[in-house]
Amino acid sequence: MARTSRRSFVMSGGAALAPSMAGAAPAASVRVVENVPVIEEADICVLGGSCTGVFAAVRAAKLGARVVLVEKQGHFGGVAAIVCTWHSFFDTEFKRRIIAGLTAETVGKMMKTGAAQSIENNPSQGTIFSPGGLKVALDELATTAKVRPWLHTLFSTPVVEDGRLTGVIVDGKSGRGAIRAKVFIDATGDGDLCARLGLAQYSYDAPQPPTTAAFLANWPERQGIKLEAALREHGSEFQIPDGFVWGTLIPGSNNYMLAGTRVYGVNCADARDLTKAEMEGRRQVRAIMDLIAKYRAETKVVLHDFPSSIGVRDTRHFRCQYQLTRDDVLLGRRFDDAISNGSYRVDIHHQEKPGITFMYLNGWQVYHRPGIPSERTRWREETSTSPTFYQIPLRSLVPPRYGNLILAGRMLDADKTAFSAVRVMVNMNQTGEAAGVAAYLALTQDKPIAEVRAAEVRKLLADGGSVII
Ligand SMILES: Cc1cc2nc3c(=O)[nH]c(=O)nc-3n(C[C@H](O)[C@H](O)[C@H](O)COP(=O)(O)OP(=O)(O)OC[C@H]3O[C@@H](n4cnc5c(N)ncnc54)[C@H](O)[C@@H]3O)c2cc1C
Repeated sequence: MARTSRRSFVMSGGAALAPSMAGAAPAASVRVVENVPVIEEADICVLGGSCTGVFAAVRAAKLGARVVLVEKQGHFGGVAAIVCTWHSFFDTEFKRRIIAGLTAETVGKMMKTGAAQSIENNPSQGTIFSPGGLKVALDELATTAKVRPWLHTLFSTPVVEDGRLTGVIVDGKSGRGAIRAKVFIDATGDGDLCARLGLAQYSYDAPQPPTTAAFLANWPERQGIKLEAALREHGSEFQIPDGFVWGTLIPGSNNYMLAGTRVYGVNCADARDLTKAEMEGRRQVRAIMDLIAKYRAETKVVLHDFPSSIGVRDTRHFRCQYQLTRDDVLLGRRFDDAISNGSYRVDIHHQEKPGITFMYLNGWQVYHRPGIPSERTRWREETSTSPTFYQIPLRSLVPPRYGNLILAGRMLDADKTAFSAVRVMVNMNQTGEAAGVAAYLALTQDKPIAEVRAAEVRKLLADGGSVII
């Protein structure tokens, strides 16, 4: 790919159809040569507009950077706009506040409009909110910070000139365009930018399966139709695989977000598998509705809607300066460059067997399967004290190549057990904020992100309302 002028790039050949997009070993390829107009020039370009990406963009923009934010859907929010549940802002004992920043600001905005509800001292739910309320709050946040948004815009290809990442090619309603920037933040969940740059990546041997959520109307009450028991008894009649069922009422309504499906054996970073997963997930929801109609006919539950995407838990991870480990999380290790605090338990949704395993910082471990008594064991001996929260270091977001690139969100560098705890949104949101601040410092200090002092990142995060410990 070569540059012709400030206003356009010439894109040619295989770069337009990288192997990761085409799947393994394409049988044939086409050669494409085209002029791509430059549609934006910015200081920082953020790819992916979940809360992670929005918070990255807002942090950098509030500090004074010109920031472009690219999201493939027609709204911001990512998986938060699907599962609408955030965990506690406190440590495991609910004594010490460990999370604030833009997560708290967004909850505050939603509270004002009745779109969110706080749940005190609950390790499973801290805030529940309406997906629509979140989308509006994120629009307001981005607009107020003067972030330049591009919705319905899919990142496809990086532009590398003289070994330096200088732009990205995106496809949107107006066609193909290029965005030039000085610093880039990959917040696409799957790490699409990092993958197409060829950064060292890995995935776990049994990644957590995706789930199609459903919005159901006329839900009688929480657990009001004993769905777990019905699924266990009759699930096979409807070809519903064993898994784990949970959900939440959406504040101010009797609508229910049900996360009750499991699509096993798919890689959601692969286009064909993702398509298959979307359709199989919807089939499973239809099957659950048929089961309810037959065996819970007294309820009047109806399928109201699907979110705009299947919920993807886990795909690629990228080697960074530090891999967060199981012991770091479960033993509550402190880091000098900590940028995120969390207290949510290890929560592994199994691929190789039904159900989920929780591992708690106090040494207990519980294996849950729907409709079957849980198995409670210890993963370590009892001690007089236990850690009450864990941390994520900045280094787990900084890849070794491309000094003007940082990642944020679930593709971070962590082993499987560590990831199973840190992956939740209150934690990932903080990685977004840190990436935004680190990108801003790299930009203004004209140095690679790896050389930005973590102490300065932490100071700016604290100045902006984050809890920094
Ligand atoms: C079913 C399910 C239930 C969960 N339940 C909870 C829960 O209750 N509480 C909790 O805290 N966590 C929960 N999680 C985990 C949590 O939602 C995720 O780990 C978290 O959302 C990851 O954040 P992220 O920003 O990295 O990725 P995502 O939320 O996946 O966001 C990625 C964003 O990038 C966009 N994007 C992707 N590729 C491109 C591209 N090429 N170009 C442009 N945009 C792109 C996507 O549209 C999306 O907006 C759940 C996950 C799932 C799947």
